[in-house]
Amino acid sequence: DRLIEARDLVKTYRMGGGTDEATEVHALQGVSVAIGRGEFVAIMGASGSGKSTLMNILGCLDQPTSGSYTLAGEGVERLGADALASIRNRRIGFVFQQFNLLPRTSAVENVALPLVYAGVGPKERELRALASLAKVGLAERAQHTPAELSGGQQQRVAIARALVNDPQMILADEPTGALDTHTSEEVMRLLTALNDDGITVILVTHEHDVAAWARRRIVFRDGRIVEDVRQEPVRGEL
Ligand code: ADP
Ligand code: ADP
Repeated sequence: DRLIEARDLVKTYRMGGGTDEATEVHALQGVSVAIGRGEFVAIMGASGSGKSTLMNILGCLDQPTSGSYTLAGEGVERLGADALASIRNRRIGFVFQQFNLLPRTSAVENVALPLVYAGVGPKERELRALASLAKVGLAERAQHTPAELSGGQQQRVAIARALVNDPQMILADEPTGALDTHTSEEVMRLLTALNDDGITVILVTHEHDVAAWARRRIVFRDGRIVEDVRQEPVRGEL
């Protein structure tokens, strides 16, 4: 059962708006990948190899220059900005390296933010945000601001925010990049538990010990997939 089906994705960035070949960056040069529901995928590769560009396309934040992308049976490569925003809100949770929490805002309000965009009323927003915080073990920290939380707790708040819309998949770009070893392990345990509950998890990481938690490893080089292998996860070895 396929969640993601991408074929021949090409992404060319044109710098300076000109048509001169010399100003083009070929970030993706024909990437095809199918990802089933419930998979746990780690994407690796050197800086500049195209990982973020692929994540932005899979997350419906950006469109490919050419190629097709079908998400949950829906062809998204020709959709406009509003339709893409709606797919992001309904189907996808995002987790970032720097957490991206609003600084002077409580954990529960940070978690509720995607529901504001989805047009959910305040009472239901609070209930759903609290339930999402409970899922990541932070129900008792609901009123704390990010500065009052540790880095690992902030990332768990960010994961609760990613979960609040009941997404089919979580896209995490270097989710442990700003965390120490012990805290990274906490975050990977949480992503693993969510994956065990059926959520598809796709993460970008530079760290082999982090990628080892996944069941499939995809390696990028120069805008192409050079390796795509299933693996038996190795967990708790960080
Ligand atoms: P990675 O995530 O593996 O570091 P990226 O997808 O960020 O790789 O980048 C791939 C290539 O595309 C790099 O050469 C990068 O500089 C370039 N690139 C990425 N985003 C943009 C952009 N918005 N405009 C121009 N070039 C970009
Ligand atoms: P990462 O650590 O994920 O590889 P990057 O430093 O490659 O991050 O990119 C950070 C952001 O800047 C991304 O959103 C990427 O699309 C954008 N970006 C990367 N390279 C360029 C570039 N040459 N011009 C404009 N934007 C870029």
